[in-house]
Amino acid sequence: MTEKMLKFVNVGMQMPSKRSTDIRTEDFKEIYNKFVNDKAKEQSSRCSQCGVPFCQIHCPLHNNIPDWLKLTAEGRLQEAYELAQSTNNMPEICGSICPQDRLCEGNCVIEKAGHGTVTIGSVEKYITDTAWEKGWIKPIKILKEINQSVGIIGAGPAGLACAEELRKFGYKITIYDRYDRPGGLLIYGIPNFKLEKFAVERRTNLLKESGINFKQDFEIGKDISLNELRKKHDAILIATGVYKSREINLPGSDLKNIFPAIEFLTASNRKGLGDKVKNFDNRMLNAENKDVIVIGGGDTGMDCVRTAIRQKAKSVKCLYRRDRENMPGSAREVYNAEEEGVEFVWLSRPKKFIGTTQASSVLVEKMKLGRVDSSGRKKPELILNSEFEIKTDMIIKALGFDPESLPELFNSPDLLISKWGTIKINLDTMEANIPGVFAAGDIVRGASLVVWAIRDGRDSAASIKKYLENKKNKSMEAA
Ligand SMILES: Cc1cc2nc3c(=O)[nH]c(=O)nc-3n(C[C@H](O)[C@H](O)[C@H](O)COP(=O)(O)OP(=O)(O)OC[C@H]3O[C@@H](n4cnc5c(N)ncnc54)[C@H](O)[C@@H]3O)c2cc1C
Ligand code: SF4
Repeated sequence: MTEKMLKFVNVGMQMPSKRSTDIRTEDFKEIYNKFVNDKAKEQSSRCSQCGVPFCQIHCPLHNNIPDWLKLTAEGRLQEAYELAQSTNNMPEICGSICPQDRLCEGNCVIEKAGHGTVTIGSVEKYITDTAWEKGWIKPIKILKEINQSVGIIGAGPAGLACAEELRKFGYKITIYDRYDRPGGLLIYGIPNFKLEKFAVERRTNLLKESGINFKQDFEIGKDISLNELRKKHDAILIATGVYKSREINLPGSDLKNIFPAIEFLTASNRKGLGDKVKNFDNRMLNAENKDVIVIGGGDTGMDCVRTAIRQKAKSVKCLYRRDRENMPGSAREVYNAEEEGVEFVWLSRPKKFIGTTQASSVLVEKMKLGRVDSSGRKKPELILNSEFEIKTDMIIKALGFDPESLPELFNSPDLLISKWGTIKINLDTMEANIPGVFAAGDIVRGASLVVWAIRDGRDSAASIKKYLENKKNKSMEAA
């Protein structure tokens, strides 16, 4: 194994394909599988089985990490998989895309002692990929269907996890989604170099085979109102995510080559899935051979810069108003982006986009860091007369997302929302102020993580089950 191959294994990504002249594919697969197996065992056996499992505590799903590492080290992979999937509906997906440096791995005792973390995410992905390969993962077989139904709005990780958990008990489930494919941001947001799309499709196909109905291209608020949907089901889960891109209001903001991150990433993901995408094919949303500027230093910004590099941009710059230490994006992502050739313009923000129909440059002003603000980070302050210009052909705004106005969109003015536009829920039951309507994922938390969406999906399923049992008991008492 070369160093380059090792890197792919360590981060749990797909191996680059080998030319058939180098080695026969089957032989290669065998050597590779053995290598990965040895590597997973070796990593798992590094776990010290410490008394206080900080990794488990800091995993939002409280996965039983020490136990499945021990089983993997002993070669008991099927048992390791059973344990991993008992708390996580998508272990291979979390293993690939969780920011482990901020969660499980960042709190590994061995990491804290300075010896490098056990690569928990990669092992989790390996165990579950093996389970798929060996046919251990099967559709849900219910003993008896319960005559109560749940309508789930949104086929992202929160909606999918809730659907799976409720189906295990036998409830009838329909998931409604306004996109043509299920998966939410797993399919159209997160780039395919981070998460292979077949892994998402494999999961959603399994749910279809488990008897869950999917209604794609169906938008609540347009095709049906929330109130009408409530009449069709015994309970509703709202798991619609957050999609309103934050705007930047500066002179020239309306120039034609300035795009929201989600538009750029969706076009790229659709191309990867084999779709015809007019605005990519006509080069509007294609970064090839362009000088690209991405504004924003969060994880979405990192996905944009790394996607632009893969599209063979001439140059890629990332403008961020704080410095490296105060960046919201994962340190690992910044490192990866720099390795791939992205230039970070720290302590800078755009002042004006210059051009007639298209921006040809951005006027940028320099910042310095002042005192710590309410977010716990140093506040950026403007340095007067510090402007300079950067040439560009394409600008991508990655400034974060807010919720759409759901009461308006759903034609449901009685639905209570917070001052941030997220749905207000009872934190114990996850129920909104409308009886029988629950909410989970980003639409409750604001832009967050897949692993938290799965956690919410599972918690909401438990609450919906209780609600449906009560409802049934009451109707039996009344009869
Ligand atoms: C570019 C990008 C990269 C990211 N990378 C990572 C990462 O590496 N790791 C990580 O953990 N997290 C990442 N995240 C965050 C993660 O994707 C989200 O936190 C997670 O997907 C939220 O899940 P959800 O189910 O709440 O919503 P979503 O995944 O957003 O799914 C919501 C679904 O609801 C549907 N919907 C919305 N409104 C309606 C309606 N009115 N009617 C019908 N359907 C509707 C949408 O079409 C969508 O399919 C990333 C986010 C972005 C934007
Ligand atoms: S789900 Fe995420 S945080 Fe939890 S063990 Fe897996 S990779 Fe770590």
